[in-house]
Amino acid sequence: MVVVMEERASEDQIQQVIAHLVENEFDVHRSTGQLRSVLGAVGGNRGFDARLIEVMDGVHEVMRITEPYKLASRTFRPENTAVSFGDFRVGGDEVIVMAGPCSVETEEQIAAAAAAVRKAGAKVLRGGAFKPRSSPYSFQGLGEEGLRLLRDAADAEGLKVVSEVMDVSQIDLVARYADVLQVGARNMQNYTLLRELGRSATPVLLKRGISATIEEWLLSAEYVLSGGNANVILCERGIRTFESYTRNTMDISAIPVVHKLSHLPVIADPSHGTGLRDKVAPMARAAIAAGADGLIIEVHPDPDHAVSDGAQSIFPTQFDRLMAELRIIAPAIGRSICLEPVAWRGWGT
Ligand code: PEP
Ligand code: MN
Repeated sequence: MVVVMEERASEDQIQQVIAHLVENEFDVHRSTGQLRSVLGAVGGNRGFDARLIEVMDGVHEVMRITEPYKLASRTFRPENTAVSFGDFRVGGDEVIVMAGPCSVETEEQIAAAAAAVRKAGAKVLRGGAFKPRSSPYSFQGLGEEGLRLLRDAADAEGLKVVSEVMDVSQIDLVARYADVLQVGARNMQNYTLLRELGRSATPVLLKRGISATIEEWLLSAEYVLSGGNANVILCERGIRTFESYTRNTMDISAIPVVHKLSHLPVIADPSHGTGLRDKVAPMARAAIAAGADGLIIEVHPDPDHAVSDGAQSIFPTQFDRLMAELRIIAPAIGRSICLEPVAWRGWGT
C-alpha cells in the first residue's frame, strides 16, 4: 500500500500515519519528494482496512500496489531516483559511461585501460577481480590483488570503480576498493547476497539474470531496497533466447519498460548483451536513444589477448568513436554526456 501525503501535511501528521501503520505491523519506507512525502507500507495485518488511513489528517490518497514489488515501483516513488557516488549521479540528466576490461589482468593492462577510457569520457572504471565463469577451469580473477590494481588505476585517472561481488563473504572486501558493487547476471536471484547488500550503503549495480523476466529483476531489486539500501542501479545485459547468432539477445525494450514500472535508474551492457565486438557500438547507441541512464562497456587495450570476453571487448579507438557518436545522440533526447575528453583522433581499428 502507498500512502501519498498532502503537500502541506505537517511532520506531526506524517508521524501519526507512520505510527498507525507500524501498529498494524506494516514496515514503512518513507520517500520525501520535492512536493510531498510518500509512505510505502509493506506487510501489515491481513484484512487491514485502508480507509482507516485514508481518513487521517494530512493524507491525500491511499493506493494499493498491485505489482509484487513495492519499493522499486513508480507508484511508491513517482520521481526518478538518481544514485550518487562521488560527484556522479546515475539517473540524472547526464548519461554515465562505465568502461574497462572484463577482468583485471595485470597492472599495465588495467592502467592502460583506465587511461584510454578516461580520455574518451568514461567516468567509472570496470574490471572484475572475482569472475563468475561458466567453467571452473577458466580464469577466476585476481581477487584482492585485482581490486587493488583496479583502484590504483582508477585513482590515477580520477575515475570511480565498479566491480563484481559474487558472494556474501566478499562484500566488505570489494566495498573497500569499489564505489559500486556489481551483482552479476548469474547471481540476480542469490537472495542471501541481495539481502546482505541491502545492509550496505554502497550502491549496487544489479544485472538482469540470463533468463529473468522484468518482474523477477525488479523483485530482486526489492530485496536490496527493503534491506535499507536505496542505491540500486539496474543493468540490462541481454537475455537468453532461441537466437544463437549473438551470445545473448539485447533487450533494448526493457529500458523503457523499466522506466515506466520503476523509479530506479537503468543502464545497458551491450558487451554481454551481444557477445560480439562489432555489435557493441550499435546496441550502445540504441540503448542511449531508448533512454538508458548509462552504459557499461568492455574495453581492453589488447582485446585479442584478453583472458576473458575478448571477442566482445572493443579497442580503445572504437570506444573513442562510440563516445563521439553518443555526444550527438544524448543531447538529441535531452540528455547530457561528458564533453571534456580529448578530441577523437580518427576512425582507426
Ligand atoms: C561481467 O560484467 O564481466 C559479467 C560477468 O557480467 P554478467 O554477469 O552480465 O555476465
Ligand atoms: Mn565480461
